Amino acid sequence: MSGPREECGIVAVIGPERAAEWACLGLYALQHRGQESSGIVSSDGVRAYAHRAMGLVADAFDESALASLPGTAAVGHNRYSTTGSPTLANAQPILVNYRDGFLAVAHNGNLTNARTLRRRLERSGSIFQSTMDTEVVVHLIAAERDASRDRALLNALDRLTGAYSLLILTPDGLYAARDPHGFRPLALGRRDGAVVVASESCALDLLDVELERELGPGEVLKVGLDGSYETLRASPADAECLCVFEQIYFARPDSTLYGMSVDEARRRLGRELAREHPADADCVFAVPDSSNSAALGYAEFSGLPFELGLIRNHYIGRTFIQPGQAVRDFRVKIKYNPVSSVIRGKRVVVVDDSIVRGTTSKALVGLVRDAGAAEVHLRVASPPLRHPCYYGIDIPSRDELIAANMTVPEIAAFVGADSLGYLSFDGLYRAVGAREHHCDACMSGNYRVPLEPGIEEKTAFETPELRVHSPVEAPVA
Ligand code: AMP
Repeated sequence: MSGPREECGIVAVIGPERAAEWACLGLYALQHRGQESSGIVSSDGVRAYAHRAMGLVADAFDESALASLPGTAAVGHNRYSTTGSPTLANAQPILVNYRDGFLAVAHNGNLTNARTLRRRLERSGSIFQSTMDTEVVVHLIAAERDASRDRALLNALDRLTGAYSLLILTPDGLYAARDPHGFRPLALGRRDGAVVVASESCALDLLDVELERELGPGEVLKVGLDGSYETLRASPADAECLCVFEQIYFARPDSTLYGMSVDEARRRLGRELAREHPADADCVFAVPDSSNSAALGYAEFSGLPFELGLIRNHYIGRTFIQPGQAVRDFRVKIKYNPVSSVIRGKRVVVVDDSIVRGTTSKALVGLVRDAGAAEVHLRVASPPLRHPCYYGIDIPSRDELIAANMTVPEIAAFVGADSLGYLSFDGLYRAVGAREHHCDACMSGNYRVPLEPGIEEKTAFETPELRVHSPVEAPVA
């Protein structure tokens, strides 16, 4: 199984003449959620067509790729995974044929019982082609022999635990589902009969599609090819476990998430951080871009001027794309350059959204000092990350997490900051709403959905990795 660390962006489009083009634009807006591979499956209601490729959306899709994806329905996926070697066999959407036609599945999240389910399915004869936990979902649906497709899907979902936002395209339309805890987001929008469902509302904005609402935790929506839709299953009353790290770091600030602007949530985090950890300093700046809103909030509350002290190079991808310590240090330097005219002689507050391994902070504090800062006060707009995430965010094992192994003063010394302040849990939830609605396992170790034995192992399932060629056209069975 592809292990606990996976981040993805998903989008589905029903209605427009060239749905795949819409899906492709949606994937552009969701590029921050996954950069390893990108794929779209489209449908004309009879056949399904697939194109999947490694790399960014812009590299994966050219005119001819999009021309090979006809039809008024499409589902797309951006994937990033740290586990196992990057391979096209693990690119999504998954496309299979079974007795009721094709199924194209795009998944964001991480199932916490995938190994158990997979072993059981293998024992009863299923053959797996990838190391993805998502493949379990299609096998479960296909294994529901006597049920209608709706029933088969609901039964299959009942057997999953953990985090999933799923988009499943069939010859008749789309199913969109969010796990009963709502770990990962899913937004629904409509324009002139077209329906779009996407990980984040920023994908709807790009398509001029108005956000109608977010799917509720546990909700299963069925969308027909004519754009009509119905809720097959509504949200459970009280199971909400919304990933707070989406608000802190992962989502785009121009998205609306859990009913709140992500930019506003981060500004509030910054204000709370300034309240809890003031600094005697001359200016404040962000580690761009994910901390911009939090740094603005810090500046606003503290009254310190907001400066652009670090400039980010946008053309190199995210630091975490290239694992391996030796590369990582160097990549911090290519990614950020200090503006010495802003920094020289100043006592500066640097705001970051989170510290994972500490590599970025250590390198940045060094760069800012080299640029002439008199003092460097590091402020972090989240509580310390001390535990891995098994619900779909790339937060590594405890031995790699600096806050799992050092105290705050030790971290300050390690990164070379004059002072270091992390936001408290109280501050976090004053900013983003009640704690009981959120998952903060990466900070608290409180895993509210049980984990199966062995989930902490990073190794992929012992399945030979198959190479698939792209594009793949799948005739209906
Ligand atoms: P590190 O150098 O490992 O401490 O990484 C910290 C930086 O990575 C911070 O600037 C965060 O904005 C960013 N970050 C936090 N979580 C993640 C994640 N899951 N994937 C990629 N980057 C992250």
